Parts: sequence; structure tokens; C-alpha cells
Amino acid sequence: VLFSELGLAEPLLKALEAEGYTTPTPIQEQSIPHLLQGSDVLGLAQTGTGKTASFALPLLQRLDQFKKRAMPKSCRILVLTPTRELAVQVGQSFKTYGCHYRLRHALVFGGVGMVPQIKTMAGGVDVLVATPGRLLDLIEQGAIRLDSVEALVLDEADRMLDMGFIQPIRKIVALVPKQRQTVLFSATMPDSIVGLANSVLHTPVRVEV
Ligand code: AMP
Repeated sequence: VLFSELGLAEPLLKALEAEGYTTPTPIQEQSIPHLLQGSDVLGLAQTGTGKTASFALPLLQRLDQFKKRAMPKSCRILVLTPTRELAVQVGQSFKTYGCHYRLRHALVFGGVGMVPQIKTMAGGVDVLVATPGRLLDLIEQGAIRLDSVEALVLDEADRMLDMGFIQPIRKIVALVPKQRQTVLFSATMPDSIVGLANSVLHTPVRVEV
């Protein structure tokens, strides 16, 4: 199977070609067609499997198709990650794959000043990658709002729960519109993840590698 057979649009195929990627990994092959159709996905996959592209590529394509603009202080795709390091990597992936779109993206994580993050969010962005604690702080300060999020991704959900982020995650999910596309990736599937998945995903397609 080639990326071009999964239904991906030309700007994404060009970006993949520039990276030297022609063949999707198994998780990408399984996830991309469903996400392009608008389904929710529950993915069981470790890091290193290509899971980031498996949600970034189809969500970018849908973002482009809907032709909306981000509202001030808002984002259209929200990705939650457990750590700053993963947030940076995921943000970089969106930038790489979205290089032929006029993409605005922002990163939000703790341990650094809030003011630059508040400024980058002021005009709104297409893609926001955030750790849950800092995101909630910025929401409570009125710097970010989630009422126009179109797609929500919980990346490395088991690590986020291990780090004690369940309360912030639940508060964040409650602020995102019910009508949205949702993706949850986790390396393991303990009961706590099954419970979270059941409450955030709507009839998900399950993919596993
Ligand atoms: P991830 O599991 O998302 O952290 O990705 C692991 C690494 O594989 C990253 O460096 C990606 O850039 C790379 N990668 C993702 N998809 C592919 C692909 N289809 N072919 C080759 N490398 C890939």
C-alpha cells in the first residue's frame, strides 16, 4: 500500500515525498482512511510506530476541506500530550506535513512564561498542541477558549493518566463541543483508559499494532 492509495490529498503527498516517506506504517494504513471519513479512532500503539502522522495527516486534510478560520483565542485541532517534549515533536510533525497549507500552530506547556503563549493564541490557530495543566491555566485566565474545536486528540493517554492529568483532561473535554472528531492513542489499555475512551469517543474504530 502507498500513501497515495489511502485517499490523502496532493499537498500532503508532496510533503510526505519531501520527507522520503512513501509507504504508510501499519497504524497509518489502518487509521488514515477512517479518520478521513470522520470516524473517531481508538489506537493502541507505542511511540515509534508512526502514530503521530496517523492522526496529523487526515486531520490536516479535513481542516483544509472545511475551510473555516480559527476564531480569536481558539484552535480548530487540539492535541493533548503528557510532556513538553512530545508537544514539541507533535507540533513539528503538523508543521512538516502541513507545509503546503497556510497553517498556524501553537504550543502550550508548563515550566515557561505564559505571556508568549497567550500572545501566540490571541489571533487563534489551526492546531494547538498542549499539556493539560498549562492549557487549563490559560483557559481559566481567559487566554484560550475551546468552544470551536473541531477535532480533539489525546496522545499517549496512558502516560497522561500516569502523570495525574485525569482531572484536567476531564475539565478540558467538557469545554470542547460534543460534535467533534476525537482520537485517543495509548500504548496500553488499562481499565482507566477504557473508561476514558468510553466517555470521550463516539463509536470509535479500534486500531492496533
Ligand atoms: P511516531 O511513532 O509518530 O513518533 O513516529 C516515529 C518516527 O517515524 C518519526 O520520526 C516519523 O517521522 C517517522 N515516520 C512516520 N511515518 C513514517 C513512514 N510512513 N515511513 C517512514 N518513517 C515514518
